[in-house]
Amino acid sequence: SPRGRLDSFLAKTLNIPKKAVRELLKAERVTVDGKVALEMALQIGPFSQIYLGDTALRADTPRYLMLNKPVGVVSATKDKEHKTVLDLIPEALRAGLHIVGRLDLNTSGLVLLSNDSRWSESMMQPGAHVPKEYWVTLEHPLTEDYIAAFERGFYFETEGITTLPARLAILGEREARVELCEGKYHQIKRMFGRFQNPVVALHRHRIGALMLDPGLAPGQWRPLTDDEKLACL
Ligand code: URA
Repeated sequence: SPRGRLDSFLAKTLNIPKKAVRELLKAERVTVDGKVALEMALQIGPFSQIYLGDTALRADTPRYLMLNKPVGVVSATKDKEHKTVLDLIPEALRAGLHIVGRLDLNTSGLVLLSNDSRWSESMMQPGAHVPKEYWVTLEHPLTEDYIAAFERGFYFETEGITTLPARLAILGEREARVELCEGKYHQIKRMFGRFQNPVVALHRHRIGALMLDPGLAPGQWRPLTDDEKLACL
């Protein structure tokens, strides 16, 4: 839903001229977030509660969900071929949701969904460098050299960039945990590709302060708690 001036919103929603809007405000008929609104130019946000008398003109509520994306489901809102993450959310909650932090088709794990673009933009803007943590299963055994190489970064010719320092921890012969502070196209697969070591399975379990709830089976979701929402701001 749009942000903007109260008078424009009222003129459009009620289909009346600005002059009539002025009269409504003067008559103290309009409230925004519980306060009588008198200013034509008052700025409203996507979740402002706007009333004309007792009638709610709009009451969209912000929604924040975490989902355990299964392998084979697309991080998109529409797809011709595959099921999308939005198909996993009940229809009543779907309107206006967008995906915060996409994963590849064959990657599983934590994906966030919200209709609050201010929140998601603050998390996902490239400068924010929110750390994301992945569990990786590889085809071949790992060696200690990987750690320094991931820390140093890899030059990606297509983008003309060197990847930011990434933390790699060896968890088992073919198992690693990797923390990235950015998200280039197929980044983890490309990084291990430099060692000719294909990624067999990739699972994201953390974005910033948000851990994937271990109680969520693949395909399950739940709303974020208030603390989780704030942890991301
Ligand atoms: N790196 C990848 O290669 N794929 C993902 O989905 C996420 C990070």
